[in-house]
Amino acid sequence: MKKTIELAGRVKHLPPYLFDKIDKLKKQARAKGVDLIDLSIGDPDIPTPAHIVDALKAAAPKPEHHRYPAYEGMLAYREAVARWYLRRFGVTLDPGTEVLSLIGSKEGIGHLPLAFVNQGDVVLCPSPGYPVYTIGTMFAGGEPLLMPLREENGYFPDFSAIPVDVLKQTKLMFLNYPNNPTSAVCGRGQFMEAVELAHKYNFIICHDAAYSEVYFNGKKPMSFLEIDGARDVAVELHSLSKTYNMTGWRIGFAVGNADIIFGLGKIKTNLDSGVFQAVQEAAVAALETDDSILAPLRDTYRARRDALYDGLKAIGIEAMRPEATFYLWAKVPARFNSESFAVHLLENAGISATPGNGFGEAGEGYIRFALTVDVGRMKEAVERMRKII
Ligand SMILES: *Cc1c(COP(=O)(O)O)cnc(C)c1O
Repeated sequence: MKKTIELAGRVKHLPPYLFDKIDKLKKQARAKGVDLIDLSIGDPDIPTPAHIVDALKAAAPKPEHHRYPAYEGMLAYREAVARWYLRRFGVTLDPGTEVLSLIGSKEGIGHLPLAFVNQGDVVLCPSPGYPVYTIGTMFAGGEPLLMPLREENGYFPDFSAIPVDVLKQTKLMFLNYPNNPTSAVCGRGQFMEAVELAHKYNFIICHDAAYSEVYFNGKKPMSFLEIDGARDVAVELHSLSKTYNMTGWRIGFAVGNADIIFGLGKIKTNLDSGVFQAVQEAAVAALETDDSILAPLRDTYRARRDALYDGLKAIGIEAMRPEATFYLWAKVPARFNSESFAVHLLENAGISATPGNGFGEAGEGYIRFALTVDVGRMKEAVERMRKII
C-alpha cells in the first residue's frame, strides 16, 4: 500500500520559492523556440583560466589525493589563503586556526548557524539578500530578522531601526559587500558601525565577501577583517566561484575569529569530509595567480555593465551603476511590480531577469540583471526592452 511520506516541518515550512513562476515561463519560452536572453543567472559564462584547469589535471592522478581529505583543508591550501589575504588586504591570518576550507561559501553560510544558533536566537539577515542566510537560520531553529537595505542608505542596514530587545537576543548577523543583488559596495565607516554593534550586543558577524574581486573602478573592496576589533567577533567567507569562474568546482574558505572557525569546523567534521585535494591544489594555483590575469575579466564585465546601464538609462529605466559584482539592480517602471515586469520581459521580449522581491520583500519594485551575456546580446536585450516599455 502506498504510504504518505511526510516532509519534516523545516522543509514543509520553507518560504515559497519565488522564482518558480519565472522558471516555468522560461522553460515554456525555450520550448516554444524563443531566442531567450538569459540575464537571470548568477553564474559566470566564461571558463576557468587554463592554468587552474591544468593544475587540477596534474593533481588528479596523485594517489594521496584519492583518500579522504581533512575537513579543514590541506595546510598548503590554508597557507595559500593566508598569503593571498596578506597580499590582497594586508591582513595576517594563522593558517592553523583562522582558516577553514569550504565546499563553496554557500556551504559555510548554511552550516554556520548550526554551530552557533540555538532555538529562538535571532539572526539578522539583509533583505534583499542571498536566500541561504535566512534558510540556514531556519534549519538551525533560529529566527531570521530581516534588515531592509534601502537605496537612501546606500543599501546598508539602518542599525538604529533594530529594537534593542531584538539586538539582545541576536546571536549572528550576516552582511554581504560587494552586495548581491544590489551591487552596493560599502566603506570602512559602515563596517566599523557593524563591529561596534556586535561588540556591544555580543553577537557574531559573518561577512560574505563572494564578490570582493569582481570590481570595476580600481577601487578594491575592503576585507571586513581590516576593521579594528573585527577579529573578536567576525568571520569572512570567500569563494573562488566568482573570482576565477569556478562555480562548478565547489571551493571557498572561511577566515577570521579562531573560535568561530573552530565551531564551524566542528559541524563540518561531523557532516562532510572536505574538498577533493586535487581541487584544493588547483585552488592554490588560482590564489597564487598574478592579479593581472583578472584584469581582462573585469574589463569584460565593465563593458557589459556599460552597455546595459547606458542602454537602460536611454530608455528611461532607473538603475544603479554597479561598481562591483556582476549584477545590475534596476527599478521597474511605475506601472509594474517586480514580478509583473519580469513576466512582461519574458513574455514580450524573450528576456529573463530576476524579480527583486525574490530576494526578500525589501527588493519589491526592483529587478536584477546579471551581466553574464556578451555586449552584443546585452545591446540586443536593451533594444528588445525599448520596444515594450
Ligand atoms: C554566489 C554566491 C555565494 C556562493 O558561492 P559558492 O559558489 O557557494 O562559493 C555566496 N554568497 C553570495 C552573495 C553569492 O552571490
